[in-house]
Amino acid sequence: MAEILCIIDGMTEPTFCTADYPNLASMRLMGYQDHTLGGEPETLNCVLHLLGVTDVPKDLRGYVEALGSGISVCQDDLILRGSWYHLDRTGRFTLPCDAPKELGNHLFRYYYLGQYKSLLVFPHLADRIDELSTYLPSSCTTEKAADLVPEGLDVLEDVFRQCLSEDRFMALWGQSVPVKLSPFPKTAAVVCGKGIVKGIAKALEMDLIPVSGATGDTDTDINAKVDAALQAVQEYPFVLLHINGADEAAHRKKPMEKREFLKRVDAQVLARLLTTSHRITVTSDHGTDPNTGQHLGSKQPVFALH
Ligand SMILES: [Zn+2]
Repeated sequence: MAEILCIIDGMTEPTFCTADYPNLASMRLMGYQDHTLGGEPETLNCVLHLLGVTDVPKDLRGYVEALGSGISVCQDDLILRGSWYHLDRTGRFTLPCDAPKELGNHLFRYYYLGQYKSLLVFPHLADRIDELSTYLPSSCTTEKAADLVPEGLDVLEDVFRQCLSEDRFMALWGQSVPVKLSPFPKTAAVVCGKGIVKGIAKALEMDLIPVSGATGDTDTDINAKVDAALQAVQEYPFVLLHINGADEAAHRKKPMEKREFLKRVDAQVLARLLTTSHRITVTSDHGTDPNTGQHLGSKQPVFALH
């Protein structure tokens, strides 16, 4: 019997009710777990913990994003995530906005990662990482964007200020350097559309199963993802199936979109997983509140079958 771990990114919120999702409700509730283990309520941190990696390096995010997007980096590169947001009239950020496709100069390389996401690579600055401090945008609620300036490196401050205008800005965060993680201890496959989870698969030397139509958002082809997971579980003893749309809908502050997506996941993903004879575990990495758009580090319910 093989195992499928299904992680529904950002599934819960303060008003989350299992009974709204009949297939989930039919599973055995094993308890509640804090997948952050005291760290940030972020997908990278929580998914690695769920995969048994307890000693997650502190500065990992940007590098794993680079892996997931096929961006090659050097050992002495400093890598950061850039997330783009609209600003309101008071200078506070509201909703994600489209990232520009191009930016960058002789000091850094810029990569558009889709939607509001981007990656910045600063050559030869890896050894400055311990001097840096940045703000995690998914944990900031009331701060003015102008107060979120990264500290410790002039070039980053300059880039931040260049990308701060009256109506939008780029949050710079997730500073990291290339680092090697221990491989996942058994042969494993990963089915996902989200770049950071693709990066986790590569970092842990798990096989990434390509799925056409897997977008990492609510428009993903969830049937194709379940097909891929059920196919993979014939060959692999462990399959990670990651579903991301609920988290993105919540970041857009769209409670109904999140709920409708979760209903589709329940009807089209969980219903099919529950017909198999494999060991199935379903949980969320962290919560995401669709009223604030912020991640929640609360304990997550863990459901099991077999
Ligand atoms: Zn998120």
